[in-house]
Amino acid sequence: MKEAEASLILSDREPRIASLLLEDLFGIDRTYLMLHGDKEVPRERRGMFEKAVARAAAGEPYQYVTGFCWFCGYKMKVDENTLIPRNETEELVEFVLQQEPDDGRTVADIGTGTGAIGLLLQKHWHKNRVVLTDVSLRALEVAEDNAGALGVSTEIFCGSLFEPLTERGITVDCIVSNPPYIAYDEKGEMDASVYRHEPHLALFADDSGLALYKQMIDGLPAVLAKGGTVYFEIGWRQYTALSSYIKKVWPKTRPQLKKDMNGQDRILFFRWED
Ligand code: SAM
Ligand code: GLN
Repeated sequence: MKEAEASLILSDREPRIASLLLEDLFGIDRTYLMLHGDKEVPRERRGMFEKAVARAAAGEPYQYVTGFCWFCGYKMKVDENTLIPRNETEELVEFVLQQEPDDGRTVADIGTGTGAIGLLLQKHWHKNRVVLTDVSLRALEVAEDNAGALGVSTEIFCGSLFEPLTERGITVDCIVSNPPYIAYDEKGEMDASVYRHEPHLALFADDSGLALYKQMIDGLPAVLAKGGTVYFEIGWRQYTALSSYIKKVWPKTRPQLKKDMNGQDRILFFRWED
């Protein structure tokens, strides 16, 4: 392809997005492009490329346009049925890896989405067994693909919160969860692109965003071994309400807080004492 044509694509409305997409969709980087033009973009894929540029330019999250994101250094598939895993959640994975020994325990990732948390944990552990659950079958199809791509073997079950575990009589030693936790009346504070494109099933919860945590806290005896541990990713204004709730339901339990790299409250964790 001639240089004139290449620069036509790149000088279009969004040259920066276009050049990023050329790299992420076709592996053509800027230097190569300057030297050779974009002749490597096959003619039949031009239409697809132009559409991708238009979607990104219209404000769709970049990761949905390319179909992947990076999480803890791994390339993971994402689509419109999954939340795009956040940097804060990488910190949750690192923290759980620091805290939990790899000694053959069973760990559940509840509301796994792309599988980001559970798959990365399983990737690092040799002896522990990680079980992934989500209420969205479509999200679990993505998690399944990610498990295959990462070369990780785990059990993946569909259902609400602990139901897939209780139905199968599975008890676990540790629960990790980043459930939906945004209050419906907080939508005005959200990034418009998140609200418009990410699945609301993954974002919003009743009761000021606390509904699913409370259900899990109430339901611990059905799935968690005595003395088991729990790690919740939480919203930055939720620690006080949630820790009070835990102390009310399980008075011997002492919730603890870990802040994220921005200094915001982010991980609530505890050893469950009944
Ligand atoms: N764990 C992934 C991550 O950290 O990137 C996804 C987190 S996303 C905030 C919450 C996930 O919980 C979504 O995948 C959503 O489908 C799932 N979910 C929502 N309600 C649920 C429920 N009642 N039971 C299980 N999963 C649920
Ligand atoms: N932290 C995400 C956001 O701000 C929301 C994730 C969640 O609800 N668990 O968009």
